[in-house]
Amino acid sequence: MAHMIDTQVAIIGGGIVGATIAHALSKYKVNVCVLEKQPMTGHGLTKCSQGGLHGGTGLYMSKYVKWWEGGGDLKSYLAREDHLKDRLNDPGVRMFYELQPFLKAKILTSGRVMVAEAQDDIEKMKIFKELAEEKGWKGISILDRDGIREKEPLLDPRFIGGLYDPHTASVNATEWTTAFTEVAAQNGVHILLNTEVHGIEQKTGGYIIKTNDGSLRAEYVVNAAGIFSDEIARMVGGIDFSFTIWKCQMLVMENTAGIQHTIVTMPKPMKSRMLYMTTDGNILASHTMDLSNSKSDHSTTREGLDLLSTYLNYYLPEAEFKILRSFAGIMHFNTRNPDDYLIERPKPKFISIIACPPAVTPAPALALDIVKMLADEGLGLVEKSDFNPYRDVEPRFIELATEEKNRKIEANPGYGHLVCRCEKVSEEEIRQAVRAGATTVDDVKFRTRATMGRCQGGFCTSRILKIMADEMGVSPLELTLKGGNSYVLACETKGLIRGDMHVGQRS
Ligand SMILES: Cc1cc2nc3c(=O)[nH]c(=O)nc-3n(C[C@H](O)[C@H](O)[C@H](O)COP(=O)(O)OP(=O)(O)OC[C@H]3O[C@@H](n4cnc5c(N)ncnc54)[C@H](O)[C@@H]3O)c2cc1C
Repeated sequence: MAHMIDTQVAIIGGGIVGATIAHALSKYKVNVCVLEKQPMTGHGLTKCSQGGLHGGTGLYMSKYVKWWEGGGDLKSYLAREDHLKDRLNDPGVRMFYELQPFLKAKILTSGRVMVAEAQDDIEKMKIFKELAEEKGWKGISILDRDGIREKEPLLDPRFIGGLYDPHTASVNATEWTTAFTEVAAQNGVHILLNTEVHGIEQKTGGYIIKTNDGSLRAEYVVNAAGIFSDEIARMVGGIDFSFTIWKCQMLVMENTAGIQHTIVTMPKPMKSRMLYMTTDGNILASHTMDLSNSKSDHSTTREGLDLLSTYLNYYLPEAEFKILRSFAGIMHFNTRNPDDYLIERPKPKFISIIACPPAVTPAPALALDIVKMLADEGLGLVEKSDFNPYRDVEPRFIELATEEKNRKIEANPGYGHLVCRCEKVSEEEIRQAVRAGATTVDDVKFRTRATMGRCQGGFCTSRILKIMADEMGVSPLELTLKGGNSYVLACETKGLIRGDMHVGQRS
């Protein structure tokens, strides 16, 4: 963006919130730009989400934590829908399922077993069940000790029973963000990556947005900058809130115990001990919670990881596990109304979304609200007759039937070269990820699953770099993990730079 660009709507931030809004707007004859400071979308807070779609009784788990702090009549407290994020929860879940055939991103509906240590827990679970049923969620059951062990045979017999909810599901929030963004882009939305907003000036008829890469004139602005949304809001005036920030560490484990469901206990403040099924069948031990004063500290600690590694055996004392990776996500809550989103209109035609967790589940429904707000502000919305809702994406090669695999390999031998042996990702899939827009190793990873397996890229990173460099026409030395200065290579290594290493070769 060397020269000034004119757009009708500028969306600042390409996380799940910005991407769903871009997708929702792409159905209309509106000129839209998404400004994202990173070289890929979905790699801010969204990347570190547990990715739970909180259908069924899910909504009541987080509300229960709040009740626990305050007390009162549990049922009437849980039934209250005085928060926007609660009202958007169920519509958001349903929209993920409706959009899935078009966006072709995964939803794993594993269901959830919530275990009870005492009869009092069961009584509360009955309330969760009643409330979810009133909202149309079917098939939720209260189980005794044998019932929960039928679902998860390795569960500790000390749990006296629990609640089974078939509606708990998980998504990979980054994969979904990519999907929303790709469909938006194919319908004309401009995705401006590596574009960081530094300042905003209000002018007659709109705003001048100053970025690291020139300026942009926009009639309408949507601030969807996640944990940086306060800084964007401040660019157009004073703000009367700050953020409380929590660092949440998590462990990804191989599912060696053969767990079939997400497993949780009754939540308590600051103690959310969950075994979450990921879309690819791994287990996420989730999560610790420590107050932080940094918006970007994703470091893990010995203490945190020691605690997380007790989670599996808390539920399944005999189970063995293998840790694949640890990481930390960040939760932020605004100080004015910590339990809800702030959707503000600090200036005409300027909407600020100050969203707190969970913002993945409600995001598609929130996007519809934002589109409506833009229309109320005067944005003309005329539907496109040629809107294409289908994402053009190939299924994972390894999941195809044998005949289909053979057919593909015959047509393109790149499918026959497995680059990532742990996750069985082929050379051609890496190439396709780059052709679809991935420029960083992390983006290739989230698009293909390459490096997500047991060796965590120990064997295949050099091969991935070689393929990426080849596709992008750059030196492997220029490639980064996630943009900026995160170069993967410090200097030439063995044959990689000389070009005498073959992609399909065994190391
Ligand atoms: C441990 C944990 C578990 C969670 N579990 C769940 C769950 O189960 N379900 C759920 O729904 N939610 C969950 N969440 C919350 C969820 O991850 C977040 O609420 C959601 O991802 C926030 O999305 P976002 O689009 O608002 O923010 P982001 O994903 O951070 O998107 C904002 C984007 O704006 C960009 N940006 C920032 N500043 C600028 C600028 N100046 N110029 C240009 N671009 C900029 C950033 O790079 C970023 O990509 C969880 C969070 C954590 C930490």
